[in-house]
Amino acid sequence: MSRAPENYRNTLNVIRQVAAKCGRNADEIKLLVVSKTMPHAVLKELYDECNIREFAENRVPELSGKVEALPRDIKWHFIGPMQSNKIRKVVKMAQVIHSVESCEQIEKLERICGEENKHPEFFLEVNVSGEASKGGLRGEELFEAGSLAAQCKNADWCGLMTMAPIDADDEALEEIFSTLAKLKKECEARFNVTLPELSMGMSGDFPIAVAHGATVVRIGSRIFEGVERS
Ligand SMILES: *Cc1c(COP(=O)(O)O)cnc(C)c1O
Repeated sequence: MSRAPENYRNTLNVIRQVAAKCGRNADEIKLLVVSKTMPHAVLKELYDECNIREFAENRVPELSGKVEALPRDIKWHFIGPMQSNKIRKVVKMAQVIHSVESCEQIEKLERICGEENKHPEFFLEVNVSGEASKGGLRGEELFEAGSLAAQCKNADWCGLMTMAPIDADDEALEEIFSTLAKLKKECEARFNVTLPELSMGMSGDFPIAVAHGATVVRIGSRIFEGVERS
C-alpha cells in the first residue's frame, strides 16, 4: 500500500481543524483529490481504502485513460486548460469543470452540453492577482462572462475558482482568497443567481483558503507525497 490513504486522512484532519477554528462546518468543504500524473493503481487504492469517488485531472488524454480503466461510479472533475477542440471530450467525461475562462468557452460549452445532453457543473476561473503569465478572467472580464454563464440552461454555473501564485506569502493569499469570496457575492447579486461553490486552495495554501470560505480544495502533491508517478 502507498502512503496516499494516510496522507489523505491527514489532510482531511487539517481541514477539520481549520474549519473548527474558524467556525465552519467541515462537511461543507470537499477535499478534491488531484490525481494528475498518478498511476491508476494509486487511484484505485484511494477508491478502496478511503471510499473516494471523485478525482480531478487536467489533461484530456490522461482523463480518458483513467475513465476507461477505473470504476464507473467515479465522478471526474476537469481542472485543466479548456482548449476549444477538447471541450466535447471534456463534456463527455467530466461532471464538473473548474477552468472555464472566456465567453467563447462558455458559449461552446453550453452548445455542446445541449448536443450531448450533458449537464455538468462549471466554475469560472478568475485570475485574482492579475498575473500576466496565468489564465483566468480578470477585472471586468469576469462580469462579462458571468452574464453569459448565468443564462446557461444546459451547463450549470456553480461558482468561482482561482489558483494563487506559488510564491504568494500568507498576506497575499488572504487577499486573493477573500477577494474571490467577495467576487462570488458580487456575481450572485448582479446576476441574481446562487453560486454555492468556491474552488480555491491547493497543497501549499489550502488552510488559508478554507479560512476564507473555500467549499472545494484541490489537493495533489500533499496526498501523493512519496508516491511514484506513472
Ligand atoms: C495540480 C493542480 C492542483 C493541485 O496542486 P498541488 O499543489 O499538487 O496540491 C490544483 N489545481 C489545479 C488547477 C492544478 O492543476
